Amino acid sequence: MNRRLFTQALAAAPFVAQTARAQAAPDWGGPVVDCHHHLRRTAEANITHLEGCGVSNAMVLARENSVEAIAAVQKQYPGKVLGWFASADITKPDAEALLTQAVKNGAIGFGELKFHVEAAGPELRRMYALAAELNVPILVHFQEVPHTPTEGVFATGFKNFEAMLKAYPKTRFIGHADAFWANISADYANDVDYPKGKIKKGGVTDKLLGDYANLYGDLAANSGNNALSRDPEFTPGFLKRHQSKLIYGSDCSCTDGRGGGVSQQGNPGASRLAGKCVARETLTLLKNTVSPAAFKQLTWGNAHKVYRLKA
Ligand SMILES: [Zn+2]
Ligand SMILES: [Zn+2]
Repeated sequence: MNRRLFTQALAAAPFVAQTARAQAAPDWGGPVVDCHHHLRRTAEANITHLEGCGVSNAMVLARENSVEAIAAVQKQYPGKVLGWFASADITKPDAEALLTQAVKNGAIGFGELKFHVEAAGPELRRMYALAAELNVPILVHFQEVPHTPTEGVFATGFKNFEAMLKAYPKTRFIGHADAFWANISADYANDVDYPKGKIKKGGVTDKLLGDYANLYGDLAANSGNNALSRDPEFTPGFLKRHQSKLIYGSDCSCTDGRGGGVSQQGNPGASRLAGKCVARETLTLLKNTVSPAAFKQLTWGNAHKVYRLKA
């Protein structure tokens, strides 16, 4: 290379590097469906996140009245959305009617249900029964410790959830969020949102996933990522034990699939993932921990089986 070309190449290098970085999305070695993708404000915004983190498809969490918004995404980006779940305010008397209608309109599950009620209270019990009747899975956010002074708690009492698994054997329960994942360790005392450090064997979540065919786990959010990151000696065995029961999702709020925008807003306990894309972080963790076949099961196969996705 002569001196002039060399100088030109040097001048172009930062631009080339930047462009490559902006374009490169990870290759996960096959299709991946994000089963905890909250419907975004525009059709494009959904696809921007998926493409940014190299995720091929989404199973979208939406509202009972989201049928048109979902149809718009499906029309503009055919094949990207493999299904959607509907949520409604379960503390209101019309929740059952609204969710039943949503299923008639094409929703394939309930969720996520994140309300200030007890996990064994009448509001959620009605939803467990309805989910069984309509033969759809139900995704519940369990949280015993507020992230902020005003946030409150959600579906409390996970430690006693065995009674619900027994009472509603035909319901496909999907566990999610802080208390579901903190209870991976037997020493969780409902005291912090995201416990750190070594996991004590025999946690409620580990036990219930093993003992009850009607309980599944959603790997999404800081809660899921934290639980799988905190004790690298524990994680491979846990993923192997429940390889057919765990479903990949991100619950990521970054805009671009690269950690951009505001990630983990209003959740100081999750600052370990601030500025990061949760979708990428958890996929990287799984990829580095399990075999390619298990990775495919966790990120594609289980969702198709448990959620009965169409593609
Ligand atoms: Zn949640
Ligand atoms: Zn993201």
